[in-house]
Amino acid sequence: MKTISDLNLKDQRVLVRVDFNVPLSDQFQVTDDTRIRATIPTIHAIMNAGGRVILMSHLGRPKGKPDPSMSLKHIVAKLEELSGKKVLFAEDCVGEQVVEMSKNLKNNEILLLENLRFYDEETNGDRAFAEQLSRNGDIYINDAFGTAHRAHASTAIIADFFPDSKAAGLVMAAEIDNVGKVLREQQHPVTAIVGGAKVSSKIDILQNLIPKLDHLIIGGGMAYTFIKAQGGNIGKSLVEDDYLETARNILSSAKELNVQVHLPVDSMNSDSFSNEGERSVSPAGEIGEQLMGLDVGPKTLEKLRTVIESSKTILWNGPMGVFEFSNFETGTRTVAHYIAQATDNGGFSLVGGGDSVAAVKKFDMQDQVSYVSTGGGAMLEYLEGKELPGIKALD
Ligand code: AMP
Repeated sequence: MKTISDLNLKDQRVLVRVDFNVPLSDQFQVTDDTRIRATIPTIHAIMNAGGRVILMSHLGRPKGKPDPSMSLKHIVAKLEELSGKKVLFAEDCVGEQVVEMSKNLKNNEILLLENLRFYDEETNGDRAFAEQLSRNGDIYINDAFGTAHRAHASTAIIADFFPDSKAAGLVMAAEIDNVGKVLREQQHPVTAIVGGAKVSSKIDILQNLIPKLDHLIIGGGMAYTFIKAQGGNIGKSLVEDDYLETARNILSSAKELNVQVHLPVDSMNSDSFSNEGERSVSPAGEIGEQLMGLDVGPKTLEKLRTVIESSKTILWNGPMGVFEFSNFETGTRTVAHYIAQATDNGGFSLVGGGDSVAAVKKFDMQDQVSYVSTGGGAMLEYLEGKELPGIKALD
């Protein structure tokens, strides 16, 4: 796959699919600019190579028709501030006027197009719409890893109209590169830490990862299904009774492949699903009938320390407990610290595809791990071993 440095961008109109699907306040101010910030190096790289930058994105779910509350014009001021460049705004994403604006763009100016999802054709992957979009550029760059799992007009279909002039942007290239370090170029020991709410949403990941692992750490709500599957009492903890057999199968396939599985040995319990619940610790399989496990316990964390800190490749997907409640965040926070230590020891750590990304941000530890993925659903599907249409289209 080509990246931007493989193409001659001089005096070319470079049409970039970015992910500016950012949260807005009631006053239409950007409340989290992470995704915009992430694309700035790509924008600058194109400009430094003499290219003209035309950006297209979706924002929210406008259901195929214009909705002023989801206009990308709300992003203009933030984009100007972060890029240090003048940003022109096109009130549509297709049509003669937009093409004209793209042709009149000057050096050091950015053209931002209106929300792609004001047209149903975008999410439907409509070919004629993709062709219309393609007229806004001479070169196509996809830097929206977060939507790479969708075969939309701007993320996949459009690439057909740029057979020799398409490439991955820096965000996309970094995501592919970093997942590659976890899935392909691994340094052993390799550890996956999988948590979060449900086993059902993590089965494909577990099945794809197990053959590549030395250690599998299971935590969060999903751990209680595993504990029950082994005959433990889990009280009112989160459980998926339909997945007890699946949990047993996962454990036996890990055993066959010599993967060490680490389930919680103790649990931090509560008498209600709230931050104010009465806390108590018990062995993981001896949770009182009226209690629910909301975090892993202290003995579990002590056992995990050496496993994590001596790992050379770590993937973390999903929190160890209900980290949104400060009284039940210790497991997630402590695991984040172990991962930071492993990273400091020279290991490679990737946090991606689940609420562990939100946890790392909450603890302000983004800089203490090797890589935090920007693409939730896309990263999940990538880790599940699926082919992502947005990446395939660039090949
Ligand atoms: P996921 O998106 O699958 O990574 O799941 C993340 C969610 O799982 C978070 O909102 C956590 O609050 C929730 N979670 C983690 N541990 C537990 C638990 N022991 N009981 C209930 N929910 C949990």
